[in-house]
Amino acid sequence: MSITRRTLLVGAGAGAVGLLLAACTPEPQPAPTRTKTPGPRPTAPSAVPAPAGWLRSTWATDPYSFGSISYLPVGADPGERERLAEPVLDRVFFAGEAVDTANPGTVIGAVDAARRAALALIASAGDTERIAVVGAGAAGVIAARMLADAGHDVTVFEARERLGGRIRSEVDDEQWPIPPQLGAWLLGGDELTALGDRLVDIGDRTLTLDAPTARTADGEAPAVDGTAVAQAVQSAESQASDLPIIDALIASGADPEDPALAASLGWMAAMTGADPARASSWYPPAFPADAVHGVIGDLDAFLNEHLDGLDVTTASPVVRIAYDDRGVSLRLGTGEALSYDRVIVTAPLGVLQKQGIEFAPALPFSHRGAISALASGFVETVWMRFDEAFWTTEATIWHVVGGDAVIRTWLNLQPFTGEPVLVGLVGGPEAEQFADLSERDATIAARASLVFFAEPPEDEG
Ligand SMILES: Cc1cc2nc3c(=O)[nH]c(=O)nc-3n(C[C@H](O)[C@H](O)[C@H](O)COP(=O)(O)OP(=O)(O)OC[C@H]3O[C@@H](n4cnc5c(N)ncnc54)[C@H](O)[C@@H]3O)c2cc1C
Repeated sequence: MSITRRTLLVGAGAGAVGLLLAACTPEPQPAPTRTKTPGPRPTAPSAVPAPAGWLRSTWATDPYSFGSISYLPVGADPGERERLAEPVLDRVFFAGEAVDTANPGTVIGAVDAARRAALALIASAGDTERIAVVGAGAAGVIAARMLADAGHDVTVFEARERLGGRIRSEVDDEQWPIPPQLGAWLLGGDELTALGDRLVDIGDRTLTLDAPTARTADGEAPAVDGTAVAQAVQSAESQASDLPIIDALIASGADPEDPALAASLGWMAAMTGADPARASSWYPPAFPADAVHGVIGDLDAFLNEHLDGLDVTTASPVVRIAYDDRGVSLRLGTGEALSYDRVIVTAPLGVLQKQGIEFAPALPFSHRGAISALASGFVETVWMRFDEAFWTTEATIWHVVGGDAVIRTWLNLQPFTGEPVLVGLVGGPEAEQFADLSERDATIAARASLVFFAEPPEDEG
């Protein structure tokens, strides 16, 4: 792979275009953003020590994702994803998790969407064309590889300094027993097989998380499951109109304020990004499986092997794509303009919604409608390593029931790594708020979220 890096105006160009477009882009309007209500400021509990190692994601505020996982809000349907996937004049093609209907919001979905976009492009292109790929996440990497293998002259433009997009492994053997994953790494069994077939052979580099426990302030609680959500979704099917999941739960007689149900909604949001107050009950996000498999290792590196021999330019946000029926012209954040025959755009839905890329002419109405109708959900993750375990349970999936924890879902990696490592997952609006916290406040919030799992000091026990 030949990697070039452009340094000027990174981010600034995208921001300027965003501001300009905010003033002049016609309808449809982006979906309104929810008003943020600041939560109570947590204090660090003495029972949960300060971590010796700490890493967290901030996808919600990252200008090259502005969110984590797309989902269907109330009123939207999977056709929005298909409309966004439609090629424009056979020159501009869209790929990425948001345009897949079978497995949206996943790595597999991103890869499958990329394969379809690449095949559609190859079908409309001549023998050897100059093709640009915007974004070097799973979709961009796979699309670029397929196009190059088909004989095209491909250049990949990646906004960030690093490759991988929402797959992000932090390799630091001195600090961590396995590389912390700040993006995708948890897959169902079928997805593991699919990933092996299409992207990378994971082999036995996985750990299986299938031993859940739930805790309240008073100790063990019954298991957290998706029964209430499944029942609400089933009865919502017979409603005259689509309802947000929360309303469907209320209509089915459930109480979303019930701590056990709130924990179950927290688990769903942490795995899907979907806000239960906005997510469609007609096209609901999948409730998490009882067992998930975590992929161990440097996922970025696995992915980047597909870029061998390709021309990749990092630190190069594409801020404008002009197109007509003869070709496309890309303008980068550096101000540089480059011409290609066709382009595949894999920038995340959040970036398209914030108009981080200007299209000239504006995209067709159906594309803009789809971008506006889909929702970009939030998932954030924290990795914490402790000098000593302050817990005694061997359970690998922890649910926090009741109290005011910000992070309600934890994964205990100690049984696999032998070291006291916990991974916190928060989704939905709480994740958006968590991403906004300072490092100090985020650490305190994470520690406070773990207090039900800490053994009480001996004189209290
Ligand atoms: C915290 C978290 C946990 C997740 N967990 C899972 C999981 O367990 N399992 C699973 O299957 N999926 C999971 N996902 C979802 C999964 O990561 C995504 O579905 C998938 O990686 C998306 O790939 P993509 O290529 O569509 O987008 P991305 O990976 O986001 O790639 C898009 C690329 O475009 C670049 N870009 C953006 N704007 C521009 C621009 N203007 N110019 C140039 N480049 C630009 C970005 O920097 C990025 O590299 C998770 C996501 C998050 C955030």
